[in-house]
Amino acid sequence: MIVIGGGLAGLAAGVALAESGWRVRLFEQRPFLGGRATSYVLPSGEHVDNCQHVTLGCCTNLEDFYRRVGAAHKIKFFDRLVFIDAQGRRGEMQAGLLPAPFHMTGAFASFAPLTLKDKLSIAWAMLNILQTNGRTWDVNQFGGISMLDWLRRRHQTKGAIERFWRVVLVSALDEELDKTDARYGIDVFWKAFLSNRTGYRMGVPTVPLAELYDGCKSAIEEKGGEVNLRATARQLQIENGAVTAAQFDAGREERADAFILAVPHTAVAALIPGEMRSASAFRNLAMLKTAPITGIHLWFDREVMTEPFVTLLDTTTQWIFNKTGLYGSVNGADKNSDKGQYLQLVVSASYSLLQTPRQEIIDMCLKEVRQALPAARDANLIKATVTKEAAATFSPEPGVDRWRPKQETTVPNLFLAGDWTDTGWPATMEGAVRSGYLAAEAVLRKEGRPHQFVRPDLAADGLVALWTRSQA
Ligand SMILES: Cc1cc2nc3c(=O)[nH]c(=O)nc-3n(C[C@H](O)[C@H](O)[C@H](O)COP(=O)(O)OP(=O)(O)OC[C@H]3O[C@@H](n4cnc5c(N)ncnc54)[C@H](O)[C@@H]3O)c2cc1C
Repeated sequence: MIVIGGGLAGLAAGVALAESGWRVRLFEQRPFLGGRATSYVLPSGEHVDNCQHVTLGCCTNLEDFYRRVGAAHKIKFFDRLVFIDAQGRRGEMQAGLLPAPFHMTGAFASFAPLTLKDKLSIAWAMLNILQTNGRTWDVNQFGGISMLDWLRRRHQTKGAIERFWRVVLVSALDEELDKTDARYGIDVFWKAFLSNRTGYRMGVPTVPLAELYDGCKSAIEEKGGEVNLRATARQLQIENGAVTAAQFDAGREERADAFILAVPHTAVAALIPGEMRSASAFRNLAMLKTAPITGIHLWFDREVMTEPFVTLLDTTTQWIFNKTGLYGSVNGADKNSDKGQYLQLVVSASYSLLQTPRQEIIDMCLKEVRQALPAARDANLIKATVTKEAAATFSPEPGVDRWRPKQETTVPNLFLAGDWTDTGWPATMEGAVRSGYLAAEAVLRKEGRPHQFVRPDLAADGLVALWTRSQA
């Protein structure tokens, strides 16, 4: 088995198949694993994530994958989400004692950045999601409607849209509400906030991202496989309707019985022979659009925040992560030390920043940080850097699912994996792992040894469990 691509999709497929007895040979073009969800070391020695990555309690397959490769203990889960608006008003979201779907009611009722009118309109829309188990009548209308249209149909106030729906969904789906399929937006609330008490819990790595994959290499090698870094596949070779080999630089050719392409969708066309590109599964990939994410890294000369992370409202900066606190001593700065503090800021769907000069982005974000965190006002910024990912994720625009191919292809021994394949999930680490597991399942099914790797969604609990059972 050859797996091309060492991001989460390729790693999940590779590890699952190695566990199932396949000799897996994984080829990754970069010198490290993890793809988009990775980190690297700056010349000055700091570990920097490609961009901050977080998971949620409802990401059951990512959790399963981290457990398989011994990385689960490197993710810390938080129950409390803190929001700060431009006036410095704080709001918190945390489950109280009530059962789902009322577990957030107390926090929501006292959430200062929203008015009573905003809250009533949100409650109305939430009730609609609950009553339909996350599938309101109009989500599939016209092949998919936008989240903004869905919200307008539910008479959401401007405040509710800007300070609630947009804040949660742009971060979760990396797209603006008018370009997001309502099905994905509703799913976020159903799976993470309504159907159970724990789906919203936020998991943040306590190590640089690349360190989450240490166990993948050994999981594959212990079963007789290999992980090849700095190995760029150039093209697949097809004979008599099946893939026979992958070609690499310097005439290197690697043969295998089956192949999984786990590269970004933009890289697929170059790898498959010309005659295959017209097949609908590959042709449709050109229809997938991409959306950007920008990360801003700021190093201060002293501690400026104590929370592990906060969400900002009404600013370009969406999240601030206290990397020093989260990493502990990894960057040589213990969280209790007075050596300084490293913050990472995240801006999803950052279209407006793509053409903005880096220094301008730093100046603007620094101003926002100083406004939100009083301790930062007297602190000196030691250094800063900006990472722009123009094609961070595929855009979950209305009707996007029709362009996403299955993991199984019309070529009997060629399989696809990647967050862009048909998983039902948006472009996330969870979606990538699901795609890898689905590809592994497809391989074993073809082999006549069916096996299920994909973990089910979190079960509904509390009153939602009673309600969904009564509907069944
Ligand atoms: C800035 C940013 C922030 C994000 N934040 C979050 C977040 O907070 N939470 C979340 O869940 N998701 C987040 N995501 C999305 C998440 O990173 C991706 O959905 C996921 O990592 C995709 O995994 P993948 O394996 O499908 O693809 P990739 O990670 O892109 O992996 C593909 C791999 O294939 C390799 N490759 C490509 N061509 C070749 C070739 N010819 N030969 C060999 N190897 C090749 C690439 O080098 C890469 O390693 C974020 C993404 C970005 C970019």
